Amino acid sequence: MTVTDESRPPAAQPFQADVARLLHLMVHAVYSDKSVFLRELIANAADACERLRYESIAAPALLGDDPKLRVILALDAGNRQLAVEDNGIGMSRDEMVEALGTIARSGTKAFLDRLEATRDAEDTALIGRFGVGFYSAFMVAERVDVISRRAGTETAFLWSSDGKGTFAVAPADPVIAPRRGTRVVLHLMDEAKSYAERATVERLVKAQSGHVPVPIAIVEKPGAAPSEITDGAALWAKPKSEITAADYTDFYRSIAGQFDEPALTIHFHAEGRQDYTSLFFVPGSRPFDLFDPDRKGRVKLYVKRVFIADDADILPRYLRFVRGLVDSADLPLNVSREKIQESPLLATIRKSATGRVLGELERLADKEPQTYAKIWETFGAVLKEGLYEDFERRDALLALARFKTTAAGDGWRSLKDYVGSLKTNQTAIYYLAGDHIGGLETSPHLEGFRARGIEVLLLPDPVDSFWVMSGVSFDGKPFKSVTQGTADLAAIPLIDAKDEAAPELQDSVKKFLVFVQGTLGDAVAQVRASERLTDSAVCLVAPDKGPDRALERILAGAGRLTAASKPILEINPRHALIVALAGLGDDERAFKEDAAHLLFDEARVLEGDRPADARAFSERLARVLGKSLHKGTA
Ligand code: ADP
Ligand code: MG
Repeated sequence: MTVTDESRPPAAQPFQADVARLLHLMVHAVYSDKSVFLRELIANAADACERLRYESIAAPALLGDDPKLRVILALDAGNRQLAVEDNGIGMSRDEMVEALGTIARSGTKAFLDRLEATRDAEDTALIGRFGVGFYSAFMVAERVDVISRRAGTETAFLWSSDGKGTFAVAPADPVIAPRRGTRVVLHLMDEAKSYAERATVERLVKAQSGHVPVPIAIVEKPGAAPSEITDGAALWAKPKSEITAADYTDFYRSIAGQFDEPALTIHFHAEGRQDYTSLFFVPGSRPFDLFDPDRKGRVKLYVKRVFIADDADILPRYLRFVRGLVDSADLPLNVSREKIQESPLLATIRKSATGRVLGELERLADKEPQTYAKIWETFGAVLKEGLYEDFERRDALLALARFKTTAAGDGWRSLKDYVGSLKTNQTAIYYLAGDHIGGLETSPHLEGFRARGIEVLLLPDPVDSFWVMSGVSFDGKPFKSVTQGTADLAAIPLIDAKDEAAPELQDSVKKFLVFVQGTLGDAVAQVRASERLTDSAVCLVAPDKGPDRALERILAGAGRLTAASKPILEINPRHALIVALAGLGDDERAFKEDAAHLLFDEARVLEGDRPADARAFSERLARVLGKSLHKGTA
């Protein structure tokens, strides 16, 4: 968009549809803590100052005779007005339309969909947990005017809206417009008039925005002199001993756009090859954009206190839930942002900072396993992406990984725990992947393992199917899917010794297996007797090579399975039903054929699939049921 016809009349323009939805939710949500709007507007004002500070390195003239960047809160209780004013970068006309009329942030739309779809109490609380941004102003204001003058330009513009579907933009009166930067004027609703009073505003700023790295001053009433209420000192540059837990939480909330408590705070100063300070937070709950396809990180980069970039890829994608910043003392300031990002110095910082975060997680896992378990529960699915993306740190990540297993009950097990309780002759780490833990726990594939007391990792996340296939091992033990290949369990004794003497397969059962194979034909790769089943009659397994059953399903779902391998149907030769079927004579051939197909369908259903042919399935089922009824009444 490059149209900048300044004489355009102030026609009302509609908001982009998503903005209208967000506004509607915002105004109608029973969100109790409306005061977050102030934190959002101050954050925007401070961002604008930081962006100008950065641009002025290359173009000092932008600062003109007003070099001290600051935010001013101007109160006018008599007129029920609160203005948040900055002398930062400002917005051009087009930037205003773009920034205040559309939602650029990816993930917001997905978030809105979720919010609208569920609408339960918990989700209403969610709206307060993500950075609601500029539009939160409409929770307290019946009209919002934004007057802005882009640094280095002449004309100022006025954006105005009542938040009910449209906004208007027009040139602003140059006399009242800020000389540089933006003034956001809230015409407060009657019930929100206390936001024009000093006591309320000052308390909120100290509680919510006390560590914004730009000073904030207050103008108590029109014409009064500004008085500074926060000094804009960088919290991260202070010695740790001077920072309280409340300071950290406050800073975390303003930098992370989260409303919870951080689960872990990592503040350190690195010296040596690179001199930098880092302040990282692991959030207490999942940020709403955690599973955005772009997997963007949210660690800010500063150089000597000057904000450079929102996301300089400082931490790898699998640590994208970490919020915070890195402030380097060594990176050059007077080169382009791109140059900084490509600098080998930054590469060193990335490496060191990543190692530090993983190290702190490891330490926490050691010292406070409960706290760590909570972090794993929240972010484990993301951390596990590193198992196949970051080969170099795979061992560290395997040590951090926690699992639900058949032996863990409600708790979490580490791989160290797992290999510490291997059964005699057990040479692999067994796992079962799928899409939810409940379905995994009841899978027939586990029966033979349970009967031998062999622990099996239950892997419910989509990412699991990928990393386990990437040639990984732990403590010299490979990972092996229980839905794949032969189970090789014979060498491991059963817990219940009376079942021990696995009898030779009866001839009739052997013949029955051949019969089933013949009946199913091409639908299966093989029909064989199972070692892994004890209670169920049948299950499907994947061939030894290639993806296991869970990965096949994921690939098929994504349309990426070129040729599905045929499953192997395993039959439990000791199951009463199988023994009885095997005992039937040739005169029952039609019945046995129906049974063979139904057994195959049963195995599919046990995996959460559908019968191969729903119509044929129901006909067979009807015939078989009919026959048993007939017997009962005969
Ligand atoms: P976010 O801050 O996460 O980008 P917001 O809804 O808070 O989302 O703000 C939207 C956009 O509006 C900002 O990204 C910025 O481009 C613009 N903006 C808002 N307030 C200001 C301001 N005071 N000065 C300059 N630009 C602003
Ligand atoms: Mg914002």
